[in-house]
Amino acid sequence: MSRALELYRSLPRYLTTRTVSGRLPSLAGAAATTTAPLRLRDRPTPSRPGPDWVTIRPRLSGICGSDLATVTGRSSFYFASLVSMPFVPGHEIVADTQTDVTLSNGTELSAGSRVVVDPVLGCAARGLPACTGCAGGHTSRCDRVTSGHVSPGLQTGFCADTGGGWSGALVAHRSQLYPVPADLPDERAVLVEPLACAVHTALRAAPADGDRVLVIGAGAVGLFTLLALRAYTRAGTVTVVAKHRRQVELARLFGADEVLPPASAVGGVRRGTRALRLDPEVGPPYLLGGVDVAIDCAGSASSLSTALRTTRAGGRVVLSGVPTGSVDLTPLWFRELELVGAYASSAGTAAHPAVRLDAHSDDRPDNQVNGHAGGRPRERSDFDRALELAASAPLDGILSATYPLDRWRDALDHALSAGRLGAVKVAFDLMTP
Ligand SMILES: [Zn+2]
Ligand SMILES: [Zn+2]
Repeated sequence: MSRALELYRSLPRYLTTRTVSGRLPSLAGAAATTTAPLRLRDRPTPSRPGPDWVTIRPRLSGICGSDLATVTGRSSFYFASLVSMPFVPGHEIVADTQTDVTLSNGTELSAGSRVVVDPVLGCAARGLPACTGCAGGHTSRCDRVTSGHVSPGLQTGFCADTGGGWSGALVAHRSQLYPVPADLPDERAVLVEPLACAVHTALRAAPADGDRVLVIGAGAVGLFTLLALRAYTRAGTVTVVAKHRRQVELARLFGADEVLPPASAVGGVRRGTRALRLDPEVGPPYLLGGVDVAIDCAGSASSLSTALRTTRAGGRVVLSGVPTGSVDLTPLWFRELELVGAYASSAGTAAHPAVRLDAHSDDRPDNQVNGHAGGRPRERSDFDRALELAASAPLDGILSATYPLDRWRDALDHALSAGRLGAVKVAFDLMTP
């Protein structure tokens, strides 16, 4: 048995209640978690779905924006078919292995090794031959996340069979595990999964040398994307849109050339790019001209709208945060923009030699190897790069608070108000009884 925070009500039913009640748009802060369909209970430790699975015990497990969207009923009905109930949330995990395990790349780990988890439950974990996405190393594009001998679930933390990070124990497939170097503290290791998503976003954004980039949102997603842009692309001027004072300081520390409050985003980009600003009679202003690439790291209708309205003709808009709300796509059409999604992270082909398509050199710059079209196989995993970033970036204090599981309401409330409270990442501490 192990303690676990379980999401127990079917998402469609929960979301329908929310919608019918008419309170959907106003949910925020403490009010949101009082009705969250979560309960803390002792559950049997999930059984291993196959021989290549291992039981792991989380040390720390972070709270992601997608978790908050799920527990507050803000996520799309689209997700309902991609999860299985009940599930234990938590996919930002640093954990100890409970038995010896040989990873997919041949690395042997003894019991008690610290690992981080790539949560995507793709073909390898499901015991299936690789789909096109997995075969090319683009595991986040797996077509089979509802198939195989594991219940539907796009990731660990959304699947009834695997358990999740907000618990004392879960199971993971050996292809999901990355060893944590001895000198990387848990407080940084727990950031590796969101850092991997940020690396993925930066590579999907694929700015050309010197491109001007706008990052909208300076929570964990935006700040980590900024780090990844600086580390793995040759982006030129990077402007960050940040709401809160601590976010402004961190954006500067992480390499932003310019930080703008949301209300000045359009005006600031106009000044920086000498674009022409138009103010329609109804609706927000927009630019003719603007940045080469805009990355929406907030996932709100207004942040996506800002991205679409400040990107130059022929430029690229990247969706990183879980999108919520609908938006006027006229600028996408009129400015002939590319709209690019960035979901989770890619395991690459090196981690899974069996599915490697061809000999492939990884020594070219990332923005060439990982062009946004994404047709070519990727070799190194986003997790490998994220482990580098976790060790090298100025991340002290970024894990802002930890809570034991039985204080889950406080933890979620803190995470929901993180920006305002000067916090970046909030996590559960599974080591304190
Ligand atoms: Zn996440
Ligand atoms: Zn697949």
